[in-house]
Amino acid sequence: MRKKLIAANWKMYKTPDETRAFFRDFFPLVVGHERDEIVVCPPYIDLAAALEAARGSNISIGAQNVHWKPEGAFTGEISANMLLSLGITHVIVGHSERRQYFGETDDTVNLRLKAALESGLIPICCVGEVLEEREAGLTDDVLRRQCVRAFHAISSKKAAKLVVAYEPVWAIGTGKTATPELAAEAHAVIRRAAAEIFGEPFASQLRILYGGSVKPENASALMAQEEIDGALVGGASLEAKSFAAIVKY
Ligand code: PEP
Repeated sequence: MRKKLIAANWKMYKTPDETRAFFRDFFPLVVGHERDEIVVCPPYIDLAAALEAARGSNISIGAQNVHWKPEGAFTGEISANMLLSLGITHVIVGHSERRQYFGETDDTVNLRLKAALESGLIPICCVGEVLEEREAGLTDDVLRRQCVRAFHAISSKKAAKLVVAYEPVWAIGTGKTATPELAAEAHAVIRRAAAEIFGEPFASQLRILYGGSVKPENASALMAQEEIDGALVGGASLEAKSFAAIVKY
């Protein structure tokens, strides 16, 4: 049995004060919730406030990216050591917005993923096709390629903590959700790729989250799929009530 993981990606939303206010509202709604793991990934400037607010609770805090070098002249970047020194446990890697708007490639995703795993952070590695690729029947190839390149030169031992998020780009922030069946098919493609790369035992343990317009209304149907091991939630994670409703699908 793979324990489901429900993660919030706040993108570029909320100040530290807004972060504290979110947790004040969110805690009472999920207190004692142990069925699923809960992770919240705020912007860098909110991490300290989020960690302080979540201390001793059932909620882990993650960052939205990590650089592959321990330190250096890389303006605007943050290293794994820096995140660990704060108490961060998780990190999103390869989000499609990073790939689309900030020049992230399969190769930089691989470097970031390696650095996260080496350091002991739990990476949530995002893969997913754009609409044109789906319409051209290329979804399986794209997912396979993204996995092969992202996992390049990583051993199954090193990858032990890896989490993957299937995020069809056409479903992110658009209100269009993949049907549970369609998401499950894509998850199976990712799991097969993971089996080829890391071996069957690893793949059967690997958690693959679905992301793309997950809302309280569609969460339970998605989470009912055996292939779907949780959710990565953008828009609907910004409001305590709606994120709690998804956590409790
Ligand atoms: C995301 O940012 O990872 C995401 C899935 O966003 P949304 O839930 O808003 O589609």
